[in-house]
Amino acid sequence: MSVDDNTPVLRGCIKLPLATDELLEVTAKAKDYAIMHGAAMRSKTNFSPDSLNFAPFVLVPSSFPRKEFEKAIALQPIINRLMHNVAHDEEFITTTLAETIKVDEFTANLFNIYRKVLAHGFTQRISLGMLRSDLMLESRCPELSPLLDSSAGGGDDDDVDADVEEQEQRRAKDAKAKTKTKANPAKVGGCTSSAYCCWKQVEINTIASGFGHLGPASKTIQSFVLRELGHAEKLQRMPKNDALAGLCDGMVKAWDIYAKPQAVILFIIEEVSYNICDQRFHEFYIRETYPHIKVLRRTLTEVHRDGKLGQHKELLLGSTEVAVIYFRAGYEPGHYPSQGEWDARYLMETSLAIKCPSIHYHLAGTKKVQQALAQPSVLERFINDPEEMKAVGKIFTGLYSLDDNEAGNANYEMALRTPEKFVLKPQREGGGNNVYGLDIPDALKRMSRVERSAWILMDLIHPPLSQGYMVRPGSAMPPQIVDMVSELGIFGVVIGDAEHIVHNYQAGHMLRTKLSTANEGGVAAGLGALDSPYLI
Ligand code: ADP
Ligand code: MG
Ligand code: MG
Repeated sequence: MSVDDNTPVLRGCIKLPLATDELLEVTAKAKDYAIMHGAAMRSKTNFSPDSLNFAPFVLVPSSFPRKEFEKAIALQPIINRLMHNVAHDEEFITTTLAETIKVDEFTANLFNIYRKVLAHGFTQRISLGMLRSDLMLESRCPELSPLLDSSAGGGDDDDVDADVEEQEQRRAKDAKAKTKTKANPAKVGGCTSSAYCCWKQVEINTIASGFGHLGPASKTIQSFVLRELGHAEKLQRMPKNDALAGLCDGMVKAWDIYAKPQAVILFIIEEVSYNICDQRFHEFYIRETYPHIKVLRRTLTEVHRDGKLGQHKELLLGSTEVAVIYFRAGYEPGHYPSQGEWDARYLMETSLAIKCPSIHYHLAGTKKVQQALAQPSVLERFINDPEEMKAVGKIFTGLYSLDDNEAGNANYEMALRTPEKFVLKPQREGGGNNVYGLDIPDALKRMSRVERSAWILMDLIHPPLSQGYMVRPGSAMPPQIVDMVSELGIFGVVIGDAEHIVHNYQAGHMLRTKLSTANEGGVAAGLGALDSPYLI
């Protein structure tokens, strides 16, 4: 990603640089702390199922504007409902994906499952949505300027800290006043229809939304570091994060709805799970909090081998009945090495088990559907309340179709003229699939007109920088101060069928931070680092 010299820098959490001795000592401790608290992954370069490396992390939390954080949290239940409604709109999904599935084989395979399930009727009408809405701050937002660092080299927020108590008191007073006055009808999810929102949605994930454990674990490491550095008072600006509990409770609520005491929760996993802690901690949380609920882990290949439907279409693995299926795999072509894995996906889809996600939720999370949602007046179809509609509309950045029609061809020409403004995205998940800026024209020119409809074009978001130390396994010590940008993910849980939503809540957050020079920042993919917000 090209970051120009004018990109603003957010004020830092503590004054940097740290003295070398102190930095070396705290970094060494933090690495051990991370491994010993499960902020870890299997090594890709030196894989062993018997060992872990710490996951890359940012030593000190990155600043994030409190107001924007609160808006994002408050908006999540509205986004959950939006996605639930989209997933249940057969006509919208079918027409939106019509061109894409002609050329994108993977999406076409998913869509075929959807089509077959529609034809036979849904065996299980309830879906479990565990979503993660990802967003980035937009540095051009005028409301960010008071939070920017005017001096080079990190910055400090001593002034802010001096105010912290006063601010907390003011907030408490405001909250009290609010309960007395009638809620302002123009205020929705913390966003007003007139207020500026200083962030844009990058994407929404409806399958395998990871970091329910690593999100909260990042806060634990950085809290430890801040205490070690003598900044315990800063911890009060790190928001609580119950993502693991929130997500696991979602699975348990679905299990309760299924209402069969012997039935299990099934995690669908990859052949090799590098991000093992993030999955196992979900499993351990469920086993420790709800010991009567059993958790199984199986690959799609194993489900193909061992799975069948019972008399009432219940999913059976051997003789074990499955109540809930949680997909941590199945979102990319490599997870389906043969027709057998597709058959397994179809078998699960036609079963009585409650799926996270069910096939229509998976399709609702495609980039193409996100692009369609951002078109003028489309939101009206899914959100009744005009204030909510405006609040959600504001978080979309420009998203453009590349379908083979007049509008799509005009967007194609626009991308060739000003590629530096855009990112080009295929219908894929898991990072590493996009094309950025000046690479776009070549990529587009290699495609036929119809092939382009497998992709969408999106305005690049320009997040502000933060400065800090990124710690990676095997990297030189002491770490150097680097320029970084962050992406915040807000988790949401929504459970219901086409007519009713029975549970809908915001379920914590995660922050991932990457070098400002990197296009993408997947932690598992090797470019990003665990982080957590320090609210300013
Ligand atoms: P995936 O589903 O593979 O995670 P994303 O849409 O999240 O796909 O894109 C991957 C990464 O690319 C994001 O995490 C972000 O770092 C970067 N990215 C995506 N869209 C934009 C954008 N509009 N502006 C800037 N960076 C983006
Ligand atoms: Mg994604
Ligand atoms: Mg993403």
